[in-house]
Amino acid sequence: MQPTHPLKVLKFCPKCGSPAFVVSGERSMKCLDCSFHFFVNAAAAVAALVANQEGKLLLTTRGIEPGYGKLDLPGGFIDPGEPAEKAIARELHEELGMKVQSVEYVCSAPNEYIFSAFSVFTLDMAFRVIPESVTGLKAMDDIIDFKFYAEDEIDFSLIPAPSIRQFVKNFFHP
Ligand SMILES: [Zn+2]
Repeated sequence: MQPTHPLKVLKFCPKCGSPAFVVSGERSMKCLDCSFHFFVNAAAAVAALVANQEGKLLLTTRGIEPGYGKLDLPGGFIDPGEPAEKAIARELHEELGMKVQSVEYVCSAPNEYIFSAFSVFTLDMAFRVIPESVTGLKAMDDIIDFKFYAEDEIDFSLIPAPSIRQFVKNFFHP
């Protein structure tokens, strides 16, 4: 497999296009022509913990790569300028048509998300979400299905992201 780390993938300065774009330290690159200094930072992402009345947890089935057909929590990347609480409500609306009553931060975990052969280092933040309703939901956007699971109904090997596996385990064993 080709390396996916940004320091290995990026070949040209994204500002001036110079090929004199070199690694400078553990997580940055510098352009020798225009002095542009590029940093590899964590990208913020959110994941929702939504339970039904029986205490089963909502998991989605991914409809995009990486991990097409695998299990995930509802969520996604935070848009620039967007609060995390808004991002979680937006993602739940986009993926499931869910309206959110309340959102409470639980914990965070890092993850490496390889998208188009490029590693994005994320900081995934889990939120406990109380929805207005868990009926009338519909799988949309980048998911193809969803279901409420008891812990013993979950095949954890079908959850590719270690951060999401951790959030799901924490949910059942807080
Ligand atoms: Zn440059």
